Amino acid sequence: MPEGDTIYRTARALQGVLGGKVVTGFETGLAGLARVEDEATLVGRVVEKVESRGKWCLIYFSGDLILVTHMLMSGSWHVYRTGERWRVPRRAMRVVIRVGGGVAGEGGWEAVAFHVPIAEFHTARSLGRSSQVPKLGPDILADGFTVEDGLMRLRAYGAEHPAAEVGVVLLNQRVLAGLGNVYKSEVAFAAGVNPFRALGTVRENEMEKMVEAAQRYMKANVVDGKGDGIVTYAGPRRTTGTSNREERLWVYGRQGQECRRCGGTVMMRKQGEQARSTYWCGECQPWVGEGSAPVGKSTVVRRRRVGC
Ligand SMILES: [Zn+2]
Repeated sequence: MPEGDTIYRTARALQGVLGGKVVTGFETGLAGLARVEDEATLVGRVVEKVESRGKWCLIYFSGDLILVTHMLMSGSWHVYRTGERWRVPRRAMRVVIRVGGGVAGEGGWEAVAFHVPIAEFHTARSLGRSSQVPKLGPDILADGFTVEDGLMRLRAYGAEHPAAEVGVVLLNQRVLAGLGNVYKSEVAFAAGVNPFRALGTVRENEMEKMVEAAQRYMKANVVDGKGDGIVTYAGPRRTTGTSNREERLWVYGRQGQECRRCGGTVMMRKQGEQARSTYWCGECQPWVGEGSAPVGKSTVVRRRRVGC
């Protein structure tokens, strides 16, 4: 699933080519959108802004019309110059928004949504009422977001849901918007918090470390997505600060391997109703709470000492 930072990059790329421009063409393969477009044509409207809210991408058109898309597993937005060959087959196209160049002599652009499973038009009012588009917590990547904001959200949620597991809470877009499954594990590791701990056992300074890491990692992984070519979701995520592809994450995807910090074994276990993979180091992220520490799968075969 694309993480919040990739949706943010996508929104920035779309904002870069669509923002402030007049729509010159609109196409869709989705009946629901086509019906609205018949009545409230998009051509001639101005793209006011494109924003990301967690994993949702919102494109605001003049005249109170908002195109809301969610990428789920497979969806993506690409940006092409007019006439440029698409890199995904046409049958996967769900929405095309065309705009002129804006500057005299500059060619136009096409923003194309492929495989987007959720795409709908809203007014500001219907968006406010929508139960499908969640009311999101503060976006970690928003300009005004502070560690204190995030701390307040975690504290408030913990007061109401003390038994909620940290790894599940970090993915809950209504608490904090933006983190996906990769960063969830990385953020818990950075704070030394076992992701299976109940939020009620997490101390204030640990919450603060999680929010701080969430903001730092997300920001470090946002690069300017504006460009002439394709917008990809393939940009490698980094949390360890190295650009070495093999060493870019602390625990995510490293089941059975040595912890980069302590040499212990990284474990993995499915977590929450959606059974998302959660990775952690039992040494760096000790268990706090009732009962015994959760045990994960670890395929590592411990090296036996040879000889004596
Ligand atoms: Zn460790």
